[in-house]
Formats: sequence, structure tokens, C-alpha cells
Amino acid sequence: MSQDNPIPQTDDLPTGIDLLHDPLLNQGTAFSEKARDKLGLRGLLPPKVFTQAEQAERVLENFNRKPNDLERYILMNALHERNTNLFYRVVTENLDKMMPIIYTPTVGEACQEYGHIFRQPRGLFITANDKGKIASILANWPTDNVRAIVVTDGERILGLGDLGINGMGIPVGKLSLYTACAGIAPSTTLPITLDVGTNTERYINDPLYLGLKQPRLRGEEYDELIEEFITAVQDRYPHTLIQFEDFANINAFRLLEKYRNRVCTFNDDVQGTASVTMSGVYSALRLTGGQLKDQKILFLGAGEAGIGIGDLIVSGMMEEGLTLEEARANCWFVDSRGLVVKSRDNLAHHKLAYAHDHPQMTDLLSAVEALKPTALIGVSGQPNTFTKEIVERMAEYNEKPMIFALSNPTSMAECTAEEAYTWSDGRAIFASGSPFDPVEYKGKTLVPGQGNNAYIFPGVGLGVIAIKSKHVTDEMFMAAAKSLAEQVSEDDLAMGRIYPPLQDIRKVSAIIATAVAEVAYKQGLATVPRPADLLGYIKSQMYDPAYEDLS
Ligand code: NAD
Repeated sequence: MSQDNPIPQTDDLPTGIDLLHDPLLNQGTAFSEKARDKLGLRGLLPPKVFTQAEQAERVLENFNRKPNDLERYILMNALHERNTNLFYRVVTENLDKMMPIIYTPTVGEACQEYGHIFRQPRGLFITANDKGKIASILANWPTDNVRAIVVTDGERILGLGDLGINGMGIPVGKLSLYTACAGIAPSTTLPITLDVGTNTERYINDPLYLGLKQPRLRGEEYDELIEEFITAVQDRYPHTLIQFEDFANINAFRLLEKYRNRVCTFNDDVQGTASVTMSGVYSALRLTGGQLKDQKILFLGAGEAGIGIGDLIVSGMMEEGLTLEEARANCWFVDSRGLVVKSRDNLAHHKLAYAHDHPQMTDLLSAVEALKPTALIGVSGQPNTFTKEIVERMAEYNEKPMIFALSNPTSMAECTAEEAYTWSDGRAIFASGSPFDPVEYKGKTLVPGQGNNAYIFPGVGLGVIAIKSKHVTDEMFMAAAKSLAEQVSEDDLAMGRIYPPLQDIRKVSAIIATAVAEVAYKQGLATVPRPADLLGYIKSQMYDPAYEDLS
């Protein structure tokens, strides 16, 4: 356990049935003989004492027995509510298997079904009717030590749109990844949903929907609610990291700009995505041999992910000597109406910086042919948009074209790994948002990279929390991207893999956290004196799901 998650002195421990009902302390059948005597558990448990590893085996057996992923999600959620340490033991040791259940893609289905699979509340619900009362609601949260909040208003959940209060599965899932991937103590995490209504008819008409059945709050009233929320969080938990998650475009960019220099906050959809993609590009450059400043990047999709990635790539190009204008001139966007160019009217504010002087083109293939990009990045949520012809063109213009089909879930990817490899004669450097299996091509095994944000945000969060940074800066996301790319081994690269294996994520996150903390010290944002051994200090802060001896 880290020092931020102290185990209560045995005198303060609940005993008997209360202890078995406390998920942070419960060890179930693993309570030792001595603990059973001392803590009034005798007779409340079957006699055989199991190890945590044996308990984990039982969980996996049940997990495998479930008929579908949603049932597996429900099983794991119930375990979390019963025995949090065991949940994290199973998740951390089986990340490849567990991540698609506790997060995308299954979490999307779980959100859509939230009102129907609901068992027990987890996290805090603040509604549009709570204006003037948010501080008192926060006071109801049972612990004084909250270090990481993930908050959503449910308006743009994954690629699924406005899910209202059903979006709660996302802060819950993201915070589970903070713990599993970076060892942020579960007792210090707080998922929050701001229920400001929903405009989705299906939920308004669903008798089991758990949220407010009213149109979404907009304008001044919405902004006032967010302001009150941020102020209340600052008052109760001054150094807490607040991660905005799955807000719609109209609010995401605005709120990020408004709060980023006031509190410790970031938006993972914008900045986390940018960082993990930037890292993939840096790794890919180790394979192509070029420099970032010489790349021409074409994006399909100009939303939170696309613009966020573009902005970070621009910063990277500027580090290599380009001016802002020169760097932006290397980044091009195609959105639902075609190439983003100056002559287009009614362009959304966030696209203006990338509206270049160029004839209008309405389709991606024409844009590829006109611009001859070195990298194609898909963040459009539109499947099958990287066609055979487009990938072939990319392979014609580049020895090793970067083809990143990042849209989630798998069914939404712009192309599959197999398509990218086959159509480029095995030369594409491929990354996706959702996992694809390795592909055998002409006797070689090619391993697609998964540009999963979970490589970045847990490590960034750990770094920021460990040294109590006042803010989260773009420089930290750049440092995280570089640190992640440096952790890709030559062996990984030889297989075409541009991210380290997910199973190493805790080690990877600790190193990213250290790089992020270094930036905080450089920028004067850290409020904890610099430890001599920063990496050692950060590791010492990481939660370990092994049971403490409570006897
Ligand atoms: P968004 O809604 O903010 O943006 C979507 C963009 O795609 C908009 O600019 C829209 O105009 C454009 N678009 C829609 N239809 C199009 C079409 N037919 N042709 C071209 N452009 C089109 O969403 P976002 O947050 O930017 O996410 C976009 C996608 O990226 C999602 O599928 C999401 O799953 C994925 N994503 C992946 C990662 C990752 O892999 N790590 C991270 C974040 C988002």
C-alpha cells in the first residue's frame, strides 16, 4: 500500500460482518486463522484459508464461465464492490484479457445498459438540480483523501453519443485503469457524473433510466454548474487531479482552456490521445529514419482527438526548429465535409488554425493524391474509410507509410491491421485504437500497435499526483509521449510494434510519471520538495493489491 492509502490501525478496523462488507479491507476467504480470531470473523467464513492467488484463480474460472462480455463486466464490477484488492490483483495480472472488459469496448455496452444492469451506486452523482448544493454533496463523500477525479457529463460517451447519466461507467472504468496501470490507490479515486439531462429519446422513454429526464442544460446555467463544481472540488480536495472525460466538442475545448491554468486538470480525449499518438509517431520514425519536422500528416477527422494530436505534433515540430506556421502547414485535416481549407465557411473554431490555402477537396483519396502525406491518421469514427486505393497510394509515396486507424471500437476502425499490411505489401507501420491480432504476411509476423490512451493518462496522473503539481501542461504530455516511445525495444520495433507490451504497463507508467514530474519541477509547478531518487519515490507511492496482514 502507498502512504496515501494507509491501512487503519487495527484498533480502528471494523470487525465481523462489517469488515467483510468493507470492499477496501475485505479479504474474504484469505483472512488468516489469526485474523479470523482477532477480528470476529470465526464462523462467518468457510473454514479453508485461501491465498489471494488461489482466490484469483476462482475469479478467472467464473470469468471464463460467463456467456458474454457484459456478464463478465458485471462479474468484475461485483468483485470490485466486494473485494477491491482482489479485483486489482486479477486485473493487473491479466490486463490483456481484462482491459477490453473493464474499459473499451465492453464498457460502452455497459453504459448503454446502465439502468438495466445497475446493482449499486459507485461514485458521486451531481445533477442540474443541485445548484448551490455541490459543496454539501462533496462533503458526503466518505474520505478526505481524494487524489484523482474523473468527471463526465455523459454527452459524448466513446463513439456512442449522449448517454446522460449512463456515462457513469466511463469515470468508473477510467479510474480502474489509473489504479491497474499506474497504481493510484483505489481509495483515493472518485468517479463523478454531472447529470445535466439528456437529449437522447431512448433514455427519456426508458422507465429504468436512472438520471434526470430533461433536456440538457446549456449556456450560462451549464457554465455556472461547472464553475460551482470546480470551486467545490478545490475547496474540499485542493490538490486533486480533475480529468474531464467524454464531454462534447462544444464544451470540451472551452472547459479545458478555461480551467487548465486555474486547477490541476486535463482532458484525456484531447491531450491523452494526442500524447499516445505522438508517441506512436516517434516510434515509427525510429523505423522510417526521418525527422518529425519533415513529415506531412493527413488526418481523417477534425474533432477532439484529431485537433489534440495536431496541436501536439505541431509542438514537436517546433522543438525541431519549425515556426508555428511552418509546423501547422504540415498538418492537414479532412472532416465530414472534406479537406479543411480557408475557403470553407462556417468552420468550427478549433479547426481554423489548420484551414490552409488550398483548393477544396471533398474526398480523402483526392486529398491523399494532392498532398502525398507520410502519415495518415484516422480519428473520424467512420469504418472502411482507409480504402485499398488509399493505402496503396500511401505505399506508393512512402517506403514505410504510417497508417493509424484509431477509431474505436474495432468495428469503427478506418481499416483493419490485415488490410493495412496486405495493401501496402507488408510495409505499413500500423496502429489502431482497439486491439488487432498479429498478422502473418509473407512468412513474417507483424504486430499492430495499439494506441491506447491507457499507456499515457495513468502515468501522467501518477506523476502529477505524486508531486502535487498545480497544473497539467502540454509539455508533460510531450514528455510522456517521448518517454513511452523510448520504452519501445528494438525487438518490439522489429515486429512493427510501436508501443511496449501492455503487460509491462505498471513499469512503463512509473517511468512516464517520473518524466512528467521532472517537467513539473522544471516548470515550477511541483509542490512537493524534489526527492533525490524521483523514480524510487514515485514507485513508493504506487498501490499494491496484495493483502496487508490485519491480524
Ligand atoms: P469527435 O466527435 O470530436 O470528432 C470526430 C471528427 O470526425 C469530426 O471532426 C467529424 O467531422 C469527423 N467525421 C465524421 N464523419 C466523417 C467522415 N465521414 N469523413 C471524415 N471525417 C468525418 O470525436 P473524437 O473524440 O475526435 O474521436 C474520434 C474517433 O477517434 C473516435 O472513433 C474515437 O474512438 C477515436 N479515438 C481513439 C483514441 C485512441 O485510439 N487512443 C483516442 C480518442 C479517440
